[in-house]
Amino acid sequence: MENQPSILLKAQNITKKFGGITALNNVNLEVHTGKVNAIVGENGAGKSTLMKILSGVYPDYDGKLFLNGEEVSFKNPKEAMQKGIAIMHQELNLIPYLSITENIFLGREIENPFGMLDSKEMHKKTKELLERLHCKLSPKTLVSDLRVGEQQLVEIAKALLEDAKLVIMDEPTSAISDSEIEVLFKIIESLKTQNVSILYISHKLDKLRLIADRFIGLRDGNTVGTIENVKEVKRDDLIRLMVGRDISNMYKKDTVSLGEEVLRIENICLPKIGNKAFYLLNNINFSVKKGEVLGLFGLMGAGRTELLETLFGLHPNLMTGTVFIENKEVKIRSVMDAIKNGMGLVPEDRKEDGLVLQMEISKNVSMATVDSVVKNGFLNTALESLLSKKYIESLKIKTPSEKQLSKNLSGGNQQKVVLSKWLATTPKILFLDEPTRGIDVSAKNEIYHLINKLAKDGLGIVVVSSELPEIMSISDRILVLSDSRITGEFNQENASEEAIMKAAVE
Ligand code: ADP
Ligand code: MG
Repeated sequence: MENQPSILLKAQNITKKFGGITALNNVNLEVHTGKVNAIVGENGAGKSTLMKILSGVYPDYDGKLFLNGEEVSFKNPKEAMQKGIAIMHQELNLIPYLSITENIFLGREIENPFGMLDSKEMHKKTKELLERLHCKLSPKTLVSDLRVGEQQLVEIAKALLEDAKLVIMDEPTSAISDSEIEVLFKIIESLKTQNVSILYISHKLDKLRLIADRFIGLRDGNTVGTIENVKEVKRDDLIRLMVGRDISNMYKKDTVSLGEEVLRIENICLPKIGNKAFYLLNNINFSVKKGEVLGLFGLMGAGRTELLETLFGLHPNLMTGTVFIENKEVKIRSVMDAIKNGMGLVPEDRKEDGLVLQMEISKNVSMATVDSVVKNGFLNTALESLLSKKYIESLKIKTPSEKQLSKNLSGGNQQKVVLSKWLATTPKILFLDEPTRGIDVSAKNEIYHLINKLAKDGLGIVVVSSELPEIMSISDRILVLSDSRITGEFNQENASEEAIMKAAVE
């Protein structure tokens, strides 16, 4: 008889909804003790949500958790931590202006018998932890002086301090270099020898195969399978575990007849600041025609946002390469240059870069084209209102009036305001970075129709999405980015989920 694995943690029928979105639907999961339990699944599959439930970040869900066979529920991450479950988030959670020691002991400071902070003791403990991780950094180093890989070590040290039995790592390798990955893997191996269990999320399949003891596939909020026999697992098996979402009732783009080339880029490179040997963009070439929707697909850290930002003049001193608009070479050294040359960018984080929430719709809409609402040197509010009313009508923005503050709109309508702002500049080329992120299904569909309509009107559109079914249904052509390079190009005929995902994990 085969040895029964020892199970540290079991999740049973976990369901989690965010408003109308079902992120997890009756998920079951077992974490084997002392093993690297790898989770794979495409963007939006529900991986991070599941990890946040296991670690007490989301106390609100349906289903049960068992730790060593005993039912548990965590009200917050601290409670999970006390039971030995630590999480390293996708976005690292350290405070940059504090030292390594201060970050590790934040909220659990050691005091001396006089009730004062015992920094000496905390530094000593930190030094021991760092040594356990083969890390030579001084405990007094400020986190802002650390590279991302080093920051991850600090996160792991934090977990070790609490004597974690399970360390959850959510895409720890998407932002770190190969040598840092090696360090991380050594640490994981040594944690395993101490019988610590690891839940490890990554889409870097080749690296993942070096470290994983078993694979669990998550798709559309469901567990779709596990592979226990890792020795025989092939790359394609893992890709099959990732893709295959239900796309039967997905929006389908109308075909539009394409016009002349509107944008062409040649040999675009973007070195990393302070490390000229490392590229955030490595020799990117493509062109877009009028009426065309070019989709850019890639997984976390592939370089998609960097590409749009670079073309939009946000990294003028670092980028190299040539940009042609309507076949004429242009120099884009700033956002002003980009706008003058007919480009618009709807950024990934609309609340941060796209929209001033405290301002009226009309002010937001006219923001990038202030000249058009100024008369004789004065802002003309009547013109401003007129401009925004035009877009409220054509984009069907749901609002009582153009004077409404943007923060009072739903996510989908806010996105339409950002879109209006750029349409008001009458661009030739529109860059859309994750245009449907965080909005509900019906608003998503409206955005798809809008993109299609804008293409019909003759714009060239470059759209970034990390959702595979979405990019397949809205694009005429798809480029895949992985590790700062273009690794695949697909058209409507040869695009398949498996082929695209294969290029994305290259
Ligand atoms: P993954 O980590 O596999 O990419 P996530 O767990 O982040 O997936 O997301 C799963 C689904 O839940 C996605 O459709 C995502 O948009 C949605 N989602 C995740 N977090 C939230 C949130 N805080 N509010 C609304 N929807 C969310
Ligand atoms: Mg995630």
